[in-house]
Amino acid sequence: MVKNSEHLTSNKNKNNDSSLSVSEGVEQNSAINTQGLQRFKNRGSSLSLDEYVNGIKSGNRTILSRAITLIESTKADHRELAQDIIEQCLPDTGNSIRIGITGVPGVGKSTFIESLGNHIIDQGNKLAVLAIDPSSTRTKGSILGDKTRMETLANNDNAFIRPSPTGGSLGGVARKTRETIYLCEAAGYDTIFIETVGVGQSETAVHSMVDFFLLLMLAGAGDELQGIKRGIMEMADTIAINKVDEANEKAVTQAVREYKNALHLYPETKSEWAPKVTTCSALTGKGIPDIWEIVQEYIQQTKKNGYFKNNRNRQAKHWMYDTITSRLTEHFYDNPAVKKKQQQIEQQVLNGEMSSFKAAQKLLDLYFKEMKK
Ligand code: GDP
Repeated sequence: MVKNSEHLTSNKNKNNDSSLSVSEGVEQNSAINTQGLQRFKNRGSSLSLDEYVNGIKSGNRTILSRAITLIESTKADHRELAQDIIEQCLPDTGNSIRIGITGVPGVGKSTFIESLGNHIIDQGNKLAVLAIDPSSTRTKGSILGDKTRMETLANNDNAFIRPSPTGGSLGGVARKTRETIYLCEAAGYDTIFIETVGVGQSETAVHSMVDFFLLLMLAGAGDELQGIKRGIMEMADTIAINKVDEANEKAVTQAVREYKNALHLYPETKSEWAPKVTTCSALTGKGIPDIWEIVQEYIQQTKKNGYFKNNRNRQAKHWMYDTITSRLTEHFYDNPAVKKKQQQIEQQVLNGEMSSFKAAQKLLDLYFKEMKK
């Protein structure tokens, strides 16, 4: 447990000009609010656990950003502090509606998020937009783009936009986003969007942390062309066909029919919700309020039949075991005895001198032996 003082400022960073130096151990995120952080620099960069928790609970966006940076850090003490912050925020979490939004690059996700986001903010909601970008695990560039997206939302006091965490495995990135949801909820955001790219890697992760999953498609492109896998369609609670302002009407009608037919083929979902197909133009705003109504209807129905709560519980359980698995794996590969022998044993497998199973057992034996010491 990290006590009330935070040891984040390394000597190296003390003279650093950037207040972002607090996040040593983190791959820097381009959309961090540098102005806000600058204000903190002037009062010193250390915050106590209580300051973090109180700051988040009072809706201070800069403190929220900094706490998320701790979640994203690779440094053990940052992560430990982040866990303590999450723990203390926990009583204030869970009250939002979490919505996953996916679709191939260019389908209009960010335009759609702006449009729907502004619509729901106009109705008095507070929106946090998070992202899981599979490309961020390999490179610092991203399919989902940078901070110039969603400009009107970015300048809205009732919206908080955070790009995808970078670095590490997709599972690691997803876990960080999952933790970030808690902090955003504690900060008063009642609606959370989690955006991801519909290319077949990260949807499952997003699906396992949201209440409602929306798939954006285009008319007349055919799902093969759009790169959408069947499994992704199966996860969708609603398919919205975007850009209807520029699409041929016949093509739209046909697409609606085709997607409805496709959705019909899937077995009934546990939520008892019949997935819908709808149309919209993120650019003109046509159909956007209807989508929000569909979401409301879904939430109402699933809260009534108990699925909403069951699903949340199932997800919480999933993330508990997911975290255990990943921590154990990390611990195993960090073990010096394992590190020392891993390459050699792997080579023996490649040379056909040892079976994969025996090799795994040997490494596990080394690990357990070390653990008993
Ligand atoms: P993303 O890659 O899925 O986030 O897609 P963007 O939101 O960046 O949109 C890609 C392009 O499609 C941009 O040029 C948008 O202006 C355009 N676009 C998005 N939604 C619509 C729409 O409803 N109608 C039209 N005509 N263009 C749109």
